[in-house]
This record gives sequence, C-alpha cells and structure tokens, in this order.
Amino acid sequence: MNDILALARPEIRALRPAAAHVNGAAAAVRLHANENPWHDEADESPTALNRYFDGQPQSLADALAAWYGVDPASVLVTRGSDEAIDLLVRAFCRAGEDRILVCPPTFGMYRFSAEVQGAGVLAVPLADGFRLDAEALIRRWTPDVKVVFLCSPNNPTGNALEPDSVERVLAALAGRAIVVVDEAYLEFSGQPGFIDRLPRQPGLVILRTLSKAHGLAGARCGAAIAAPALVELLGRIMPPYAMPGPTVAAALAALDPARLARTRHRIREIIVERERLGPALAALPGVARVYPSEGNFLLVEFGDVARALRAAAADGLLLREFPGQPGLARCLRITVGSRVENDRLLAALERA
Ligand code: PMP
Repeated sequence: MNDILALARPEIRALRPAAAHVNGAAAAVRLHANENPWHDEADESPTALNRYFDGQPQSLADALAAWYGVDPASVLVTRGSDEAIDLLVRAFCRAGEDRILVCPPTFGMYRFSAEVQGAGVLAVPLADGFRLDAEALIRRWTPDVKVVFLCSPNNPTGNALEPDSVERVLAALAGRAIVVVDEAYLEFSGQPGFIDRLPRQPGLVILRTLSKAHGLAGARCGAAIAAPALVELLGRIMPPYAMPGPTVAAALAALDPARLARTRHRIREIIVERERLGPALAALPGVARVYPSEGNFLLVEFGDVARALRAAAADGLLLREFPGQPGLARCLRITVGSRVENDRLLAALERA
C-alpha cells in the first residue's frame, strides 16, 4: 500500500485535511460554524438546510458499502463519479510533470480533468472492436503516467472490456500506477466487474455512480472504491461539507431495499428495451451498424450522420455526436429511453 501512496503528489501526502466542524449531538446548540439560526422551510430537524452537513456522511458510506459488497472504509462518497475522477487526477498528477493514460474513444472527463490540472494525456486507442489493447498499453506506459483510466462498459462504445486484458494491465502496473476501472454502467451489463480484485490490488480504484442505474443523475452521488489508505488520501482534498444534505437524503432513499427492488426491475426494463432497439435500428436503411452494448445506450453508425441528426431534431430528440473523435465521425450515441421514447426515435429515424 505504501508504494501506492508514494505515487501521490508529495504536497498532497503532506496535506492536513481542511478544518471541518463535525456535527455534534442532534440537541447541541451550534454556535461553532457561523451558520444562520433561521431557515425558511418548516423543517426543524438537524438536517435543515441552514446547517452544514458532514462531508463524508457515515450513513451513506455504510449504505453504499453494503450495496457494493465492500467495507465502508473502502468507500469515498463523491459528488458524482466526475468528482472522483477529478480527485484522482489532482492527488496523483503534478502539473506539467505527470500524465494520465486513456484508451479512446472513451469518456471525456478523464482528459478534461487532466487538462484542468495541467497534467499530460497519453492516449492508447482501443483496438479493433473497441477492445482494450493491454500489450500496447503496458508497452507505452512510462513512469510519469500516474493514473490509468479504463472504462467498462465503455462510454461511448458500449462494450465491456475483456476481463483478461484488464487483469494483465493490473498485474503489469501493480505498484507503478493507479488503475481506475470506471464502472458507471456496470448494472446494465452481464459482468461482475472488478470490485472483488480490490483486496489483491492496492492500486485499483473502482468508480460507481447512482446517476445511471439508480436514476439519480441530478442528485450527484458517486463512489470511489479503493484501499482505505487511498480513500483517506482522496478524501483529504475534498472540501469540507462537500456532500449536500439533499444529495445524501436522495442517495439514502435510493439505497432503501424497496427502492432497490424497483431499481432492479427498471434496469431489466432498460436492458429489454436496449435489446429491442438495437435490431430495430439496425434494420433502418440509414443505419450502417449498431455496436453491441452492455450500457444503457447504443453506439450507432449512420450512412449520413447529419441527416439522422436533423431527422431526430425535427422531432425534438437529442442524440450525441462525436465530431473530431477518431473512428466516430459517422456515429451517434443514443440513450435507451422509455418504450414510448424509443418508438418515437425509431419513427423519426425512419423518416431520415
Ligand atoms: N463515468 C462514465 C463512463 C460516464 O459516462 C459518466 C457520465 N456520463 C460518469 C462517469 C460521470 O457520472 P456521474 O458524475 O454522474 O456519476
């Protein structure tokens, strides 16, 4: 483990967490945090919004840990997994000196966070069929690459990475770099994911989120799951009181057993719709190819992308294009919506 923390920026290793006023007993009179005694809602509870909340609410860390099957000390609660990506880059990459490694085409926030931090980006593109090219990745890794971002299922291509390839990367870079496996879409796949590798891989970080399968994108709640020492290091650079009370309440409600049963049902519905939508799109004359997907979206190649976009927009449908992304010039990423929304999409694209 110490080897892994040694990869972090020295000033972060030396950093003391910002002072936060821990919440005392519910009945305590709070004259220690320069809060306002009044609030406008009827709510008189200690969770009223005139008060600061714990930056790392233990109740939510416990609920996420139970859901993901890990120890609570392995969970850092973040404002979406976007924040976890940013924390990782800031903790491990010195501006102008260190780099991250990404495998494009992939999620854009890895590069964005690196650019904000002034860190370099080494791109090792996915191979044919958007497969992870483990050998190329290992060959091209250099000691200034501190964080490797893998995304499985990968956004925007939809495929899950081959477990063997991820294993090879983990084995080759053990003690040399942090390897992040972003599993934002795992619930829509048939894959077990990599959480069970954590006890053997001190440099592994798994990213999960409530934004996708749990339908809580607007609440902003994600989790970085890693060795406790790594969780503690990343938590050190979060601002105090980072997690908003309404976010915590929404996340706890989403992890309630009754809601989880409904979530499981909705995940199955989205998968059923994805399996219906894929072949239906592939049968349209304007569609050249629908890539297999294990996410809640499909990557679709069109004969004429602009035309497909115009037809969708004419019916008020927003689809995602990737101008300038190698290999995706003729592709759109289409989120699997409700049955009604998907039918409307099919009808609009049929008119393209
Ligand atoms: N990772 C991937 C692969 C994503 O596609 C997204 C959202 N588009 C995120 C992370 C961020 O999700 P959030 O911040 O909402 O948890």
